[in-house]
Amino acid sequence: MNLGDPVENLEDEATLQLDSNGELRHLLTLKGLDKVILTQLLDEAEHYRTAPGSLPARARSLEGRTVGNLFFEPSTRTRASFDLAGKRLGADVLNLDVNTSSRKKGESILDTIYTLQAMQVDFMIVRDAGAGVPAYIARHVSDHVSVLNAGEADVSHPTQGLLDLLTIRLHKGGFEELTIAIVGDVQHSRVAMSAAQGLQTLGVAELRSISPAALAPDPENVPGARIMDDLDDGLRDAEVVMALRIQRERIGNLDGIPGIDEYFANFGISEKRMQVAKPDAIVMHPGPMNRGIEIEGTLADGPSSVITEQVTNGVAVRMAVLNRVAKTMGTR
Ligand code: ASP
Repeated sequence: MNLGDPVENLEDEATLQLDSNGELRHLLTLKGLDKVILTQLLDEAEHYRTAPGSLPARARSLEGRTVGNLFFEPSTRTRASFDLAGKRLGADVLNLDVNTSSRKKGESILDTIYTLQAMQVDFMIVRDAGAGVPAYIARHVSDHVSVLNAGEADVSHPTQGLLDLLTIRLHKGGFEELTIAIVGDVQHSRVAMSAAQGLQTLGVAELRSISPAALAPDPENVPGARIMDDLDDGLRDAEVVMALRIQRERIGNLDGIPGIDEYFANFGISEKRMQVAKPDAIVMHPGPMNRGIEIEGTLADGPSSVITEQVTNGVAVRMAVLNRVAKTMGTR
């Protein structure tokens, strides 16, 4: 990681994100967020959700506040949805163009943060390829600033986790009875880590992680999951199936990773492979999708797919998180 700053030892992100009253000051991880906070965030997000084609929900609760999008890794959905979420709550939104930003010129990340703070940016939405970067920033910002993790290396992606939880809850009503299968490169997936953390807190009946051996996760990173390597076994009777992209940018050595055809034949989710899942199973994918590798195009576009709903729910979840964190801003 090249931050231009020494990275201090990580203190517990789960503790760092809460203020002295146990309220959410930053959102760094879903780890340690209790059932009450998770459920309240999902309830509030549900309230912001309106169907595509109708007018989106709006509020003025962030009027006068500024949201800064600091994406030091590519993003389409997450960045756009934080942008829309901020605007729909009445905030000013600043999208920092990373290609022209000073960080590329060697400015330390803290110099960038202090510069934005001086411009009265209140929310730093951070995506970075380095583990620990959102917490590092959170430890250094002034009292009026909140840091929201928008994707941290292969460690976590808490707002993606929340939108996945919301999508599942909207379709299945709850979690306790569900069998959920996460399929693909679970080892390098921050999406899988955050989903597993949230699902463990909310209490799912069975969580399965299905990958080729070379992409299987450390069991500690997917709490409570059954680690499996056979797709038919993994999909059998599942109510929710989440396909993941192979995170090639995070894999140093591709030895042992099957080629595209072999991968699709053994781990690609298709209409045919879904026949062993429950008939009303939903299919999810965080995007970006590689059709014909981890998911068949016709399945992604078919009736069981909730992939575009995940995108809709992403805006609602980010509105809920911004609003929740904003509540602690006046009390610091
Ligand atoms: N968009 C997700 C992420 O940022 C998933 C992916 O990139 O494959 O982690």
